Amino acid sequence: MSILDFLAHGLTGSPTWLVIAYFFAVTQLTIFGTTLFLHRSAAHRSVEFHPLIAHVFRFWTWLTTAMVTRDWVAIHRKHHARVETEEDPHSPVAHGIWKVVFHGVTLYQEAKKDREMIMQFSQGLEDDFIERKLYAAHPNWGPSLMFFINLALFGFIGVAIWAFQMLWIPVMAAGVVNGLGHWWGYRNFETDDRSTNLTPWAFFIGGEELHNNHHAYPSSAKFQLRRYEWDIGWSVISLLRRLGLAKVLRIAPTLHVRPNIQLPDAETLKAAMTVRFELSKRYFREVIRPTLHDELAAAKRAGIRLSGRLRRGIASDGRWLSNEQREAMETWLATRPSLATLVEHRRRLNEILARTSKNAEERLEALRAWCSEAEASGSRALAQFAADLRGWSLAPQAV
Ligand SMILES: [Zn+2]
Ligand SMILES: [Zn+2]
Repeated sequence: MSILDFLAHGLTGSPTWLVIAYFFAVTQLTIFGTTLFLHRSAAHRSVEFHPLIAHVFRFWTWLTTAMVTRDWVAIHRKHHARVETEEDPHSPVAHGIWKVVFHGVTLYQEAKKDREMIMQFSQGLEDDFIERKLYAAHPNWGPSLMFFINLALFGFIGVAIWAFQMLWIPVMAAGVVNGLGHWWGYRNFETDDRSTNLTPWAFFIGGEELHNNHHAYPSSAKFQLRRYEWDIGWSVISLLRRLGLAKVLRIAPTLHVRPNIQLPDAETLKAAMTVRFELSKRYFREVIRPTLHDELAAAKRAGIRLSGRLRRGIASDGRWLSNEQREAMETWLATRPSLATLVEHRRRLNEILARTSKNAEERLEALRAWCSEAEASGSRALAQFAADLRGWSLAPQAV
């Protein structure tokens, strides 16, 4: 075989379709290594893989991304802990969307220089011999080895595949998930951050598209939470579980409404606190939105238009508005007393459910008082919401 022959076809001389299939297989495997092993298992401890499977993921992540488990886990946990603040390693709200989409890797490289932070946020991780001596000590050897494997298999085209492989995680995870996943898409949960679900069918980035679901329940191994959603990562976990190669440790709780509960009890409180992002979303949809709709129509008839930003701001109680915009929202609300009452009730409910210094008993008392006031408020939607809320409880988790 001449050198030119080798460069053109590699050792295998594979047909084009096989080269394309190889490309999709290796990039998907990298995505799975990241979402299943680094993210769901190592960072959030929601699933445990058989040591052999875990090692395949680890090896593959080393071979194709040069990412070190400890660095990735720490940076990611810090993202959850400090989300959308200056300290969030990759928040488009704090750093700007373009920076996160196009310079996500730079932000990651910057973050990992802070070794004290890495140690603080990666507690509980154990480095074994091969991690210390090879994967963490020589992260760049993996991609270098991958380069020669691709070259040997397919010749020059293998090098092109390698280049795309190296771009895959920076573009898909650092750019798309960290950037767009906090910027664009739909929200099932009114979380304290700007996270979004990019698509309901999440199969291209291993299920990470369902990023708002993930922020609502970070320790859930399953990202699909609505009937019409599909998380391919969860499908893989389910398959491995059936083969006895994975153990699911935690999934998101589901809400159950008990009939005929007159007074909120400890179970109600626990459920409301656990699913409080879902509660916020429901409150907006069932209680605030119908009135907001009417008020906007009335305002329009009177020649007053509320900007889209302020309208959306009401959904998150002005959390992402500037001070000036928030003031404008409050001023507008002040002229709409029935809407203002609903917003005020939401604030009080959120205060009760937030993990503040109040003890459980005081919190339950406050929730009971909130429910009776809501039912006497004169708003049918609010009264209905409070009546349902009394019966809330968590359905047993089918892990
Ligand atoms: Zn996020
Ligand atoms: Zn996470």
